[in-house]
Amino acid sequence: MDTYMAADLPFHGSPVVPEMCDGSKSIRFQCRKGIACWNACCSNIDISLTPYDILRLKQRLNLSSGEFLQQYTVPYELEKDGIVGVKLRPVENGTACRFMTPEGCGVYEDRPTSCRYYPVALLSMRRQDEYTDTRSYALVKESHCLGHNEPRELTIDEYRSEQGVAEYDELARGWRQLILKKKSSGPSIGKPSKSSLQMFFMVCYDIDRFRAFVVSEGFNELYDLDMEETIEILGDDTRLMLFGFRFLKQVLFGENTIPLKEDAATKRMERYRDKLQKMEQEAVERRMAEQDGMYEEPDA
Ligand code: SF4
Ligand code: SF4
Repeated sequence: MDTYMAADLPFHGSPVVPEMCDGSKSIRFQCRKGIACWNACCSNIDISLTPYDILRLKQRLNLSSGEFLQQYTVPYELEKDGIVGVKLRPVENGTACRFMTPEGCGVYEDRPTSCRYYPVALLSMRRQDEYTDTRSYALVKESHCLGHNEPRELTIDEYRSEQGVAEYDELARGWRQLILKKKSSGPSIGKPSKSSLQMFFMVCYDIDRFRAFVVSEGFNELYDLDMEETIEILGDDTRLMLFGFRFLKQVLFGENTIPLKEDAATKRMERYRDKLQKMEQEAVERRMAEQDGMYEEPDA
């Protein structure tokens, strides 16, 4: 099973049917236990995860986001500017999904978005002068998948509703917008810095580390969140994730929705000056120590 969620799909030579359609399009498809290709799609995976997919899976497995990322995922370059995405890691020395069981998906209620969509591909696009993304779909026809021969017709909207993707789409919207926005902002904004890429990774995928960041002294010196909002955000992974998307829009694109403390800029400047002074002092001490060393008598 491959995932097809980018805006610029390589239609040529891929199993994606080169016809974009909307949710009213009828498709013929059914996946059912007992079908001859049962589990074929989960035996060869290439599944990108959204931030909400990670929340659901780490909660189900009772792991911290850091543990989940380490045990079950691999990073990959989502965009050529270095924006990183996360994919499910297959079994050791194989291509099958770690959650595959003879009965089917072992995490079915929390399976990722692209597993829910399959065999439909979601194409999310955004024009440079628009903020909201538009959605269309395409059908993925892989030769091993016999579900396309089953005698059942339904619209893509009906299929999405059957697979419960509305919630997943809604909660991944902010993340998709960030990626599309970066993508369509072009050279005027330029290549993101290493620290902004690290920030993007932490906020989008490593929610428990982001939580620790939100309670840190540095964050609270700068941002002016009221206590009630902070408690609500910190106590709920999903709210924290949505807050994280707002936070990234602010730090990466200057869309200010999180109030800053009035004296934050001054404090930042002071900290920066202190840091510079400390570095200069260390450099002077190092130079003096080197000079002293030069005049010391060598050991006999
Ligand atoms: S998460 Fe479930 S549905 Fe998705 S590839 Fe793994 S076993 Fe298959
Ligand atoms: S019908 Fe398609 S989606 Fe269902 S088990 Fe077979 S290969 Fe997988």
